[in-house]
Amino acid sequence: MTPYAKKAVFPGSFDPFTNGHLDILKRALRIFDYVTIGVLANSSKQPLFTVEERVAIIQQVCVELPGVSVRSFSGLLVDFARAEKCDIIVRGLRAISDYDYEAQMALINRRLGESIETCFLVAREEYSYVSSTLIKQIANLRGDVAQFVPPAVARALAEKFG
Ligand code: ADP
Repeated sequence: MTPYAKKAVFPGSFDPFTNGHLDILKRALRIFDYVTIGVLANSSKQPLFTVEERVAIIQQVCVELPGVSVRSFSGLLVDFARAEKCDIIVRGLRAISDYDYEAQMALINRRLGESIETCFLVAREEYSYVSSTLIKQIANLRGDVAQFVPPAVARALAEKFG
């Protein structure tokens, strides 16, 4: 039995945070007492929002969710989890196309950190097609993203795209 079983890290780019991410977070909170959202700073993707912006937006979204903290990290996820005194990683699975990459990451992370476990939560059907990339494209074309993202994210996107 691990001493950290009640705490999990939910890592990602969150560029931006969507209702799909929020749903995974809320469901993770039914399993874990504390969830730290780890916002990846050194992604190979060129982000729309800076890591500081992403952390600030997610903090606004989660302000009324007890047990949630939001932090940025760079470097290895296993090192971030270790620093958070946590050895469980939560990830969302949308489609079978997510599986290959996610399974590879889970296996690598277990090799890098012996006690690390990855816990997958299957996306809810209504969010399974929601991705940060699509949300950015819709917002860029001045489409309405309100049904896909929390209000704080919709406001941030509107500001970004003027
Ligand atoms: P990354 O760049 O690390 O994949 P993302 O921000 O795209 O970061 O995703 C973070 C996690 O949330 C991943 O596990 C991803 O599969 C999951 N996720 C993304 N969108 C959704 C969604 N609509 N529903 C459920 N899970 C999702």
